[in-house]
Amino acid sequence: MSAQSSIACDIVVFGGTGDLAMRKLLPALYYLHRDRHLHADTRVLALARARLDTDSYRQQVRRHISQYVAQGDFDEAVWQQFAQRLDYMPLDVSQRVEFPRLAKALEAGAERVRVFYLATFPELFAATARHLHSVGLADERARIVLEKPLGQSLESARQINDEIGSVFDESKVFRIDHYLGKEAVQNLLALRFGNALFEPLWRNAHIDHVQISVLETVGVEGRGGYYDQAGAMRDMVQNHLLQLLCLVAMEAPVHFEPEAVRNEKRKILEALRPISGMDVQDRTVRGQYSKGSRAGEALPAYYFEKSVDHDSNTETFVALQVEIDNWRWAGVPFYLRTGKSMAQRKSEIVIQFKSVPYRLFGEGRGSPMHNRLVIRLQPDESISLSLMAKSPGRGMSLQEVELDLNFAEAFNKRRWDAYERLLLDVIEGDATLFMRRDEIEAAWRWVDPVIQGWQDCYRSPKRYAAGSWGPDAADSLLERSGHAWLDER
Ligand code: NAP
Repeated sequence: MSAQSSIACDIVVFGGTGDLAMRKLLPALYYLHRDRHLHADTRVLALARARLDTDSYRQQVRRHISQYVAQGDFDEAVWQQFAQRLDYMPLDVSQRVEFPRLAKALEAGAERVRVFYLATFPELFAATARHLHSVGLADERARIVLEKPLGQSLESARQINDEIGSVFDESKVFRIDHYLGKEAVQNLLALRFGNALFEPLWRNAHIDHVQISVLETVGVEGRGGYYDQAGAMRDMVQNHLLQLLCLVAMEAPVHFEPEAVRNEKRKILEALRPISGMDVQDRTVRGQYSKGSRAGEALPAYYFEKSVDHDSNTETFVALQVEIDNWRWAGVPFYLRTGKSMAQRKSEIVIQFKSVPYRLFGEGRGSPMHNRLVIRLQPDESISLSLMAKSPGRGMSLQEVELDLNFAEAFNKRRWDAYERLLLDVIEGDATLFMRRDEIEAAWRWVDPVIQGWQDCYRSPKRYAAGSWGPDAADSLLERSGHAWLDER
């Protein structure tokens, strides 16, 4: 991944003035430019409705990039070169008549790869694809990138997929889930399939349970209008958490290439035991934050956030007990949890192995006698393995010690942001880390009945104080099976 791409490309960012573009996509492109991964002729054309000229757009981007790249990484000379790649054009994607202008702007690069990055809203995806097609831009060299969430339900996701599919071949569609671009997530694959050590143990005979947590300290951060319609289940579980679960649980693919990897992930989604009807009460917890505090700072309740309905029933927290009905995982609970305005920001996967079958060193002398593998994605990317070791001194008292691999320290290299890696994959046409249509639909097929179950039982989400670890019911969910969330509370 260090060579310069041999592919000259036009990257067209729809929604080029938005939060995602400014905070993630353009800083990622700046780094790719700085580190010489982009072809010298690659250009970036940003589009949105705002009537800006290229100069004022570049000023806006400069402000954001200097704020969002790591301290010391903004370099005026590099920026000046990068800015030369960058253009802006006002365009309303819902207006077909505006697309001939776009076709004209891209005419000069007729032989180049074209990446259409849809950093707008799912409601606009179908019209954008249709209008690109109508002016001949949805051709062999075009690739389309779709941001999550893709739809609000199986039906709406299918509709978007059908409309996109009527214009772009599936091999040209890149449905992005930036969690898959994270180094630690790819390291999970390296750990599982690049080492002989773990795979024989990676099954129900040896694994007790798995926890996948994606916890944020932030609330809805000005995105209340969107979030109130979506909720944590659609915003996080349907995509990020289920994708992480797939990578933990899938069988080894025959090759590390798109179809083989995605076939294995889909099989896991199809093996998820449905949660519907009464199961919803036993195996799920929904929460919503009320006012609270963190480190002495008062935090608002969700229903006081901007653009959120005061009577909102939207969940900002979800905990689930998930079962995978296949030979490898039968009987192993996978606990998934995500929440906003939590006590701590962390994304991690915990693999808890079973305890030793017999306590050779006596009861009570150093519990719990089981090993644990923790793959941490945020705030730092690291992998740690807890082992039992003898405590120094007389007698055989055991204590837990950790083998730690912190990637930043181990490799002494700047960590790539997920969007850098994924943008380069799109340019190179490698869809291994992107979701295929059937995966997205299989995930919705499992998620829809849970949401329906919540609606049918008319229960409001359980309140939890902002800045806490979520509703007590999320702890009880695990306690029933003798487990507990592995938090440092
Ligand atoms: P945002 O800040 O509201 O930006 C939306 C962008 O779309 C703006 O540039 C807006 O500019 C443009 N736009 C809206 N309607 C348009 C139209 N008819 N024609 C052309 N451009 C139009 O939203 P965002 O947070 O960047 O999110 C964009 C998408 O990415 C959403 O689907 C979101 O769920 C997803 N996403 C965002 C993040 C994130 O970190 N922000 C992370 C993952 C996924 P004008 O209003 O000037 O047209």
